[in-house]
Amino acid sequence: MRLVTSDVPALAVSGLSRFYGKRAAVNKLELRVEPGDLYGFLGPNGAGKTTAIRAILGLIARSEGTVEVFGERDLVRQRTEIGAMVETPTFNDWLSARRNLQIAAAYAGRGTAADIDEALERVGLGARAGERVRGYSLGMRQRLGIARALLGRPKLLVLDEPTNGLDPRGMREVRDLLVELVRRDGCTVFVSSHLLSEVEAMCNRVGILDRGELKAEGTMAQLIRQLGARTLIEVGVDDRPRALEVISRLEGARVEGDGDEGRILVALSGPEAADLNRVLVQGGVAVSSLVPRAGSLEELFLSVTSSEPGVA
Ligand code: ATP
Repeated sequence: MRLVTSDVPALAVSGLSRFYGKRAAVNKLELRVEPGDLYGFLGPNGAGKTTAIRAILGLIARSEGTVEVFGERDLVRQRTEIGAMVETPTFNDWLSARRNLQIAAAYAGRGTAADIDEALERVGLGARAGERVRGYSLGMRQRLGIARALLGRPKLLVLDEPTNGLDPRGMREVRDLLVELVRRDGCTVFVSSHLLSEVEAMCNRVGILDRGELKAEGTMAQLIRQLGARTLIEVGVDDRPRALEVISRLEGARVEGDGDEGRILVALSGPEAADLNRVLVQGGVAVSSLVPRAGSLEELFLSVTSSEPGVA
């Protein structure tokens, strides 16, 4: 059991750049992932996520910048702490899942026979570990890729678009697995995605990359505040006219129209849902429900990323 001191980040990236010719695919990237985070590295296609991850892992040279993993700067020692899956994992299709992991463990010099079985169980492939990988679905392959990344029990998992190409059920399975790895196994997970809904559903912290630059980073609530984006809340009340009058007096709140089931749709930029609740109750209005409207992150994402394709 290793102790993690809270002031040492799991991953600290500072001034990381990667140029292709004169173009920066990643430009002065600053990231801080705390132990226990399920960190979503979000960005549109071509934003530079894969390049950043490759540079973080030392799979391609960094043009500039430093990377620390649990305070460690040495790449070889970092690798003992990191398990990674970059892009679609490939396997020897004619061999079983277990045999593939045995070969990977021998090649990487980490992962005992017990680790292999545990990793296969962990990703839900224990019962089918003896089957050839060629019969595996895409979702099973992704999970096997995660099992491979888990060999040697790394503290930090770095996964590049692990749900890419999966159907909704496969995506859900991978998402649930990542949440469990953080909650039950104490892993820290850094996961890239171009899907807002996915990041919103599983991550506690988010960094948004666009054209190689980090546009925003923080918890969902922090991002919304930082960027002055609006939170949309549907509020159910007993006295609608009175509620409208109270809301009109709250600075940073604006009625946007009707929500579902007779609720009022309110946009907040500054005040939070709790503030809205408080002023309504103080104003003599009974609040029956406060429902955050999905899509807050989407608004934010669209507001900070460019609509044109990346620099490719
Ligand atoms: P996606 O979600 O589509 O995989 P991404 O965010 O992972 O995108 P990258 O693959 O990192 O983006 O690409 C970022 C930019 O760097 C793109 O413009 C890409 O064309 C460019 N790029 C990546 N690799 C190279 C390379 N080897 N040579 C030249 N340019 C490259």
